[in-house]
Amino acid sequence: MQNPTDTQNPSKLASGYIGRFAPSPTGPLHFGSLVAALASFLDARANNGKWLMRLEDLDPPREPQGSAQLILQQLLDLGLSWDGEVLYQSSRLDAYEEVLQQLQDKRLAYPCNCTRPQIKAMGNVYDGSCRTRISAPAKPYALRVKIEAIELGFDDAIQGRFVQQLATQLGDFVVRRKDELFAYQLAVVVDDEFQNVSHVVRGWDLLDSTPRQIYLQQLLNYRPMHYAHIPIVVDELGQKLSKQAFASSIRTDRATELIFQGLKFLGQSPVDEIKKESPESQLQWAIENWDIQRVPKVAKLPFIL
Ligand code: GLU
Repeated sequence: MQNPTDTQNPSKLASGYIGRFAPSPTGPLHFGSLVAALASFLDARANNGKWLMRLEDLDPPREPQGSAQLILQQLLDLGLSWDGEVLYQSSRLDAYEEVLQQLQDKRLAYPCNCTRPQIKAMGNVYDGSCRTRISAPAKPYALRVKIEAIELGFDDAIQGRFVQQLATQLGDFVVRRKDELFAYQLAVVVDDEFQNVSHVVRGWDLLDSTPRQIYLQQLLNYRPMHYAHIPIVVDELGQKLSKQAFASSIRTDRATELIFQGLKFLGQSPVDEIKKESPESQLQWAIENWDIQRVPKVAKLPFIL
């Protein structure tokens, strides 16, 4: 099913719905990541789509051992089972390298050794000063993509139209970091294309990454996709629950309560009759009754379990 508000050349979209959940294994799932998983799962299943799993394990220093397996087990305990094999980004380094090479060959990406204080002095929007270098600086350096001074917007299925002025709000952005790790923005675009993803449903904190991803898709001649950004869960102080901030791991022995609360968070008004049902029956109800338009159209929502 196509999002009727999408203006990005719908004729080029893949015919079937393919969604995905793409956690970074920086710790166990918390309630915030659970609702992102739940929303992408329900939207895929309600549209008779596939739901794929991708572990974004590109930053080993931030990934406690065993987190990937733990996340997968937690999802299974909640009844959220995916289609096909799990894709690990750590197995895709050659593909990212190849794309970076293409961008450099076309002079669309260039080395930059500017420091954080220098970028701060530019007002945190990179001014492109390394664009005109004749030769690469000494390592370490990052690789940045050249942006055009255009306005790039898209229609988010939940949050509505979102527009960024690439030159004044973004600047040339990093696709390989100074520490030589591939940037999230690059890897996510290469893999959404590789996995034939048609619909991305994820947290609002990634809304402003989306123009960068669409820009890269266009540079690389990839397919456009649909986006929907759900509100992020914040605690009583308004802070985002995050794995790095040691938000408490969900307890899958409370799966029934978690799914029920997750559905409430997503505005789906689960009926009392399913409150004590197994996660599988709750999910079945939720697939049949899923309405993405009922997801609150806000950035953040406080929610106490
Ligand atoms: N790996 C990202 C995260 O855990 C999500 C990436 C995405 O959904 O595009 O926040």
